[in-house]
Amino acid sequence: MDTILTGDRPTGKLHLGHYVGSLKRRVELQNSGKYQTYIMIADAQALTDNADDINKVRNNISEVALDYLACGLDPQKSTIFIQSQIPELCELTFYYMNLVTVARLQRNPTVKNEIQLRKFNQSIPTGFFTYPISQAADITAFKANIVPVGEDQLPMIEQAREIVRSFNNLYKEVLIEPKAVLPENSICSRLPGLDGAAKMSKSLGNCIFLSDSSADIKKKVQSMFTDPTHLRVEDPGHTENNPVFIYLDAFCKNEHFAAFLPAYQNLDELKAHYQRGGLGDGTVKKFLNEVLQNELKPIREKRELLSNDLPYIFDMLKQGSEQARETAAKTLDEVKTAMGINYFKGNSLITK
Ligand code: ATP
Ligand code: MG
Repeated sequence: MDTILTGDRPTGKLHLGHYVGSLKRRVELQNSGKYQTYIMIADAQALTDNADDINKVRNNISEVALDYLACGLDPQKSTIFIQSQIPELCELTFYYMNLVTVARLQRNPTVKNEIQLRKFNQSIPTGFFTYPISQAADITAFKANIVPVGEDQLPMIEQAREIVRSFNNLYKEVLIEPKAVLPENSICSRLPGLDGAAKMSKSLGNCIFLSDSSADIKKKVQSMFTDPTHLRVEDPGHTENNPVFIYLDAFCKNEHFAAFLPAYQNLDELKAHYQRGGLGDGTVKKFLNEVLQNELKPIREKRELLSNDLPYIFDMLKQGSEQARETAAKTLDEVKTAMGINYFKGNSLITK
């Protein structure tokens, strides 16, 4: 059976980027019944750049768990667990570190970019610098072959594949090479921020959260960056690199036009009107707001219900973590045997 592992850093509540980039796909894959699914709340990874803000990470664990269940992840079908509760992952990371050079880590474009964004300059925490290795441990501990992620994660999956190949060549074929699965709609692989930044990201504060109130969504949509050259309604406008249209590409379906903007049949017609001029940003934003409200309302309502039963969330995470730990421990045992360091299994250490 194919195995999926994926997850999120508990650095904030989950946003639309997570939803279209990864969450939606996870729920579909989970519900197909064809996969063993592990979903990890990556608190240890979040600490690599938030060591001074443990409360942020701690408080967001249940927030992320609520977002998961609200979107349709189901603990009966998926194992949902907390990374730091699986110490085997640290051990795997430690051994994998010997298989990766510093130069290789320095080349990782996502890490490079994140170092810049976080303004680390020369003060990069070692844990942050090496997080692609710990991510390889997370994936391989569960022998996951499928990792549904957004585009920013491709260099991490590549790094994990290299580690698997090195390990299997050096020691024994124990680990499985993972494959990244991107969203089918390429727009969703990297949803831009409300401000037009390349990526909606918790750390950049340019997000619509799945838990945002209806009034917040409306306010955020109204304040969105659009085409700066589209000054007057009659001016021709650009739809590419315009986040309002990118969000419509990601979310709107033809039936939304019938329901909320019947003057157009589909997005192509709306885009054409904007491009030739005569269509104001206000009208497009009003439509986007309707589309998003429609998508997010059921998620928000489910989340509100679930948030009244936090002991349930606690038990689910505890059980999930116990279950995940059993699997990771099995893999670690195989890894140590392959490396010849399972010294007290048998007596090969003292028999020549
Ligand atoms: P942080 O700023 O703390 O890194 P983040 O918003 O980047 O947070 P992560 O927890 O790092 O979120 O990412 C979790 C998953 O969501 C990854 O698979 C990532 O590719 C995907 N993802 C995050 N942001 C986006 C986005 N804007 N568009 C598409 N996918 C995204
Ligand atoms: Mg990130």
